[in-house]
Amino acid sequence: MAEQHIEDVYQKVTHRNPGETEFHQAVREIFDSLVPVFAAHPIYMHENILERMAEPERMVSFRVPWVDDQGHVQVNRGFRVQFNSAAGPYKGGLRFHPTVNASIIKFLGFEQIFKNSLTGQPIGGGKGGSDFDPKGKSNGEIMRFCQSFMNELARHIGPNADVPAGDIGVGSREIGYMFGQYKKIRGGFEAGVLTGKGLEFGGSLGRTEATGYGTVYFMEEMLKENGTSLQGQTVVVSGSGNVSIYAMQKAEELGAQVVACSDSSGYIYDRTGIHIPTVREIKEEQSGRLSEYVARHPDAEYNKNGSDIWCIPCDIALPCATQNEIDETSAKVLVANEVKAVGEGANMPSSLKAIHTFQSNGVLFGPAKAVNAGGVAVSALEMAQNSSRLSWSFEEVDHKLQQIMKTIYENSIRAAETYGRPGDLAAGANIAGFLKVADAMIDQGVI
Ligand code: NDP
Repeated sequence: MAEQHIEDVYQKVTHRNPGETEFHQAVREIFDSLVPVFAAHPIYMHENILERMAEPERMVSFRVPWVDDQGHVQVNRGFRVQFNSAAGPYKGGLRFHPTVNASIIKFLGFEQIFKNSLTGQPIGGGKGGSDFDPKGKSNGEIMRFCQSFMNELARHIGPNADVPAGDIGVGSREIGYMFGQYKKIRGGFEAGVLTGKGLEFGGSLGRTEATGYGTVYFMEEMLKENGTSLQGQTVVVSGSGNVSIYAMQKAEELGAQVVACSDSSGYIYDRTGIHIPTVREIKEEQSGRLSEYVARHPDAEYNKNGSDIWCIPCDIALPCATQNEIDETSAKVLVANEVKAVGEGANMPSSLKAIHTFQSNGVLFGPAKAVNAGGVAVSALEMAQNSSRLSWSFEEVDHKLQQIMKTIYENSIRAAETYGRPGDLAAGANIAGFLKVADAMIDQGVI
């Protein structure tokens, strides 16, 4: 009966959101793991909690006009989905990338509900962004776009209502421009309205590093439970942005050797270990392409086909670039090359078939919702510092982050065990995240 109920709701969701394949994929993945929960607690069926959860509380889409350096008026589309506020103000990043559409924003917002719940912090789920492409834009163009985007977004957000942060294409520069515009519109300094801010105006130490470091802390917990550690392991990390860079840095610090990373144009393979400062210099400081790495490290190889990065033999794979970057074929190659563990730093980087391939071949699998939750967890710590007008040291934030990642691991593994899926962290994370939000929704009535 539970299975039939969940299938019926899934059919309704796909019918109500036609063509939104990424959103359907995220919903399917979560729904499938909830069958034993619904079988054990029919109240969730009676309350129709799944259909309520899969329908955003609110979603806005808006015009973002801006003037480019040639004086031409450009138009982009902005989005904000306010998915669920049962546990706290909506919280989730903003993504600026040409592929952004309603389906991408909804898949990210839906996943965010469960991830934020897992952190144990009082935050609900939301997400936003625009199909604006920051690549090749001047600083002035980025600023004018961010200001125009905030002109509309400002009416929907606030420190107690909805608190956006960064994601792909949105780093501290973009957050700074958006914060400045919000402040001008509101005429007051509401530090807690955005997270990922500069340290000079309310940002938290450790936020920049949090998602990448948290990814590796989670991986270390997974390995520890299985009698091993990162020490001496060969690691491949996709991407070379915010999450990837700090995942590589922490993995190396914990004794692993990172041999490959990528960007949207290709990947580099450096058998002697990626020189992370060079990657940072090229990508963070010069907004350049990874292909430039080989000029400075001639022994490294550059390959234009970025998805081939998963052909490189490794013990640990950390996909940290984007959604669906590991399909079934790549997963099979990783398995054939005897990968021991996969930790999802990016959101939904593995297809459903890829996840199944890992799990059915005994590969330890850490799902995005749990693995990359360190970023939003430290964002919540930034909100706490803002409301108390304090700032904590890097060590204090980093220590809290480690504790949070450990707790997420323990809660996920325990939930999997309780509901008959021992060792299945993907199911455990979904279940642990779901229970808290579902119970909060029931307590708050049908609203
Ligand atoms: P960034 O924009 O900083 O970096 C993204 C990186 O991925 C860039 O190196 C980009 O290359 C690369 N990339 C994009 N598409 C592809 C592709 N198809 N193949 C290979 N590389 C690709 O984003 P973040 O690091 O912030 O985000 C990465 C992922 O982590 C996303 O899924 C995001 O949702 C998730 N995440 C981020 C959090 C955060 O705190 N930032 C928190 C939780 C999850 P290029 O330079 O060519 O664009």
